[in-house]
Amino acid sequence: MKIGVLALQGNYEMHSQVLEKIGIEPITVRYPHELDTVEGLVIPGGESTTMSKLMNRMGFYKPLKSFANDYPVLGTCAGLILMSEKVVDADLEPLGLLDVQVERNGYGRQINSNTINIEFELNNVGYNIRGSFIRAPKIVSYGNSVNVLAMYDEFPIIVKDNKHVGISFHPELDNISILHEYIFLSDRTNN
Ligand code: GLN
Repeated sequence: MKIGVLALQGNYEMHSQVLEKIGIEPITVRYPHELDTVEGLVIPGGESTTMSKLMNRMGFYKPLKSFANDYPVLGTCAGLILMSEKVVDADLEPLGLLDVQVERNGYGRQINSNTINIEFELNNVGYNIRGSFIRAPKIVSYGNSVNVLAMYDEFPIIVKDNKHVGISFHPELDNISILHEYIFLSDRTNN
């Protein structure tokens, strides 16, 4: 299976390595037409405002939204911001793939660039992973269609909406592949 990694800006290389580790062929996506060759997409961390400008310039918005009707999209950190419905504190156009409202850098000094322990369940199996937070967005509210998979300090940090998953931290930095595996491999039959 081929999964795209949006490579306009940010931390996309490590996502490719995580995908390779679970037997998926990562495809670097720099132009909208490259979406035609993949069956899912990762939007990496980075700088959401910069990424949004580049997406706009490259004409990604419309094709990416229609791609997301058929295929799963996984966003980490800035990727989650771009996938949200609304960004409460920035003038940037999100894709609206996850019915969440986010606040950029919402954890402030509390867990500003820090690692915490995260416990959560997927398909009734428990996991305990490291969560590396780097100027992470906070999910400040969410709609009924959102399934919260993990919380930290009373706020969701892993969410699922329809076939899409958003994560406020960076699993790829700790070589954690379970969430990539979940969205692109094990969950495909449940959509
Ligand atoms: N704070 C960044 C933003 O607002 C996101 C940080 C990250 O992706 N690690 O875009």
